[in-house]
Amino acid sequence: GRFVSVNPALARMYGYESPDEVIESITDIAGQVYVSASDRERFAKMFAERGGVRELEYQVQRRDGAVLWVSENARAVRDESGTVLYYEGTIQDITARKQAQEELHRAKEAADAANRAKSDFLASMSHELRTPLNGILGYAQILKRDASLGEKQKAGVDVIQRSGDHLLTLINDILDLSKIEAQKLELQLSEFHFPDFLQQIANIIRVRAEQAELSFVYEQVSDLPIGVRGDEKRLRQVLLNLLGNAVKFTEKGGVALKVGYDDSAANPSTLRFQVEDTGRGIPPDQLDEIFQPFQQVSDQSRHVEGTGLGLAITKKLVGLMGGKLGVTSAPGKGSTFWFTVDLPAAEARQVTAPKVERTISGYKGNRKRILIVDDKLANRGIVVNLLEPLGFEVNEAVNGQECLDKVSERRPDIIFMDLVMPVMDGIEATRRIRQSPDLKGVVVIASSASAFDFNRQDSLSAGCNDFLPKPVRADELFEKLRTHLGLEWVYDSESSSEEREKAAVETLVAPPLEELRILLDLAKKGKIMGIRERIAKMEQLGHEYRPFAAELGRLAKSFDMDQLKKFLTPYLEGTS
Ligand code: ADP
Repeated sequence: GRFVSVNPALARMYGYESPDEVIESITDIAGQVYVSASDRERFAKMFAERGGVRELEYQVQRRDGAVLWVSENARAVRDESGTVLYYEGTIQDITARKQAQEELHRAKEAADAANRAKSDFLASMSHELRTPLNGILGYAQILKRDASLGEKQKAGVDVIQRSGDHLLTLINDILDLSKIEAQKLELQLSEFHFPDFLQQIANIIRVRAEQAELSFVYEQVSDLPIGVRGDEKRLRQVLLNLLGNAVKFTEKGGVALKVGYDDSAANPSTLRFQVEDTGRGIPPDQLDEIFQPFQQVSDQSRHVEGTGLGLAITKKLVGLMGGKLGVTSAPGKGSTFWFTVDLPAAEARQVTAPKVERTISGYKGNRKRILIVDDKLANRGIVVNLLEPLGFEVNEAVNGQECLDKVSERRPDIIFMDLVMPVMDGIEATRRIRQSPDLKGVVVIASSASAFDFNRQDSLSAGCNDFLPKPVRADELFEKLRTHLGLEWVYDSESSSEEREKAAVETLVAPPLEELRILLDLAKKGKIMGIRERIAKMEQLGHEYRPFAAELGRLAKSFDMDQLKKFLTPYLEGTS
């Protein structure tokens, strides 16, 4: 338990003046030097098993009480008969390394904790914000379906709904940005019909441009693939963002979208999208800044709504899709934003017919039973108010336990299940329902305001059939019911003649553009005979044009030139 010989370095390490002082002062190494009894045991055990220690790390006490980390190598020196004469070894001060390691560990723990806190915060914030929005948007939708409202009330409800939608976009934008930053956003690749996709976007922007009295041109600058593989939702988000900005920041003139293959790209399937406007432009010194979150070109006199998040998200999304984004701009003249993205050609999916908005008034077949499980009265009220008028039998439960009680009393066809509830949550309730063989056919749809995919996955793995995000949208709710219960809707027969006309226009196959131009020209000049002649020819052009010709003939018969013009104009919109 004593030192026989030590060098000056060991003396200094232990806080003594000289080797002699160490030898005199330390008379019980185990008691005076070691910090913990467990380290002493580790030392003894290793020595006994291996006849020595190698790089054993432990803490020792200096003369002044300070604690050091050391690494020791030691062995026993024996005489010829094997009796231990003494031990010899080296120790190295590794305090600095240990401290650095500990700090690193602490920093990592702190960072992990901060990250978890951020995720938790985002999850709960989005949940907290979406929950009241569910009430606002839900009741706006219910009121809109109320035929007794006057024009003024309808306009007011529209404002509520639009503002609610806007707020929802903001929440989603902030979440998107944080998900991208936390590298949690993954692209969802699918095959989609590219011309349809572009047409949908052009339609949305055309309406907005018209409202702002701007022109809108969509130009295809090269052949385009029919089916492509990519992330449809994110590509739409990027395009709508750039086009939306172009409309927003342009007062006179117009906006153009140009799409074609990018000849300069290494990859032959790279497409280039270009959005041009004749708007206010961006000063050269701000061209980089606009891509930063919350950056807006300051201009007090012209305030337009926005968060300043759009371009930050757009740039990150294009990067995520492996593309490039750029901008050129001349202040006062206009801006051009472009981006490239690789969209390999793929099998084209079936073209989906354009959706016609009609008011659902009921459904065919037996009365269906629905159970709404939600702890919030307002949330239940929305679904009840949307579904009861359509002839569903709707029951309510305020938590998972009550849901189980009601399910066994009266078996529903479908359950809408909130996830977070007191007493018993939706996941647990679903699990128990799935364990009961009697309840096999009951459809369970999870519904939550959480924006995180894992909630969706958790609910699906617990046995839910589908997921309905909150705020609940009436059309989404109806669609879930239709697909899971195999319903056939009955539509309101009193839908306005305007709606019927819109529906008709969308389902008629129009003749070639050239023919349409001639017809419109004739209608403008009031040449009814000319129109009749063209109708007769159109019927020979192909049988698919017959419904269109018939409709035209009906209008021509009543000599109503205004109606004729009104009928033809939508088909020529967006062409020059
Ligand atoms: P927001 O549109 O919500 O303000 P963005 O990130 O989309 O946020 O845009 C940031 C800023 O870049 C805008 O506030 C605007 O000053 C400028 N900007 C974007 N697009 C255009 C454009 N087409 N013409 C002029 N300025 C633009």
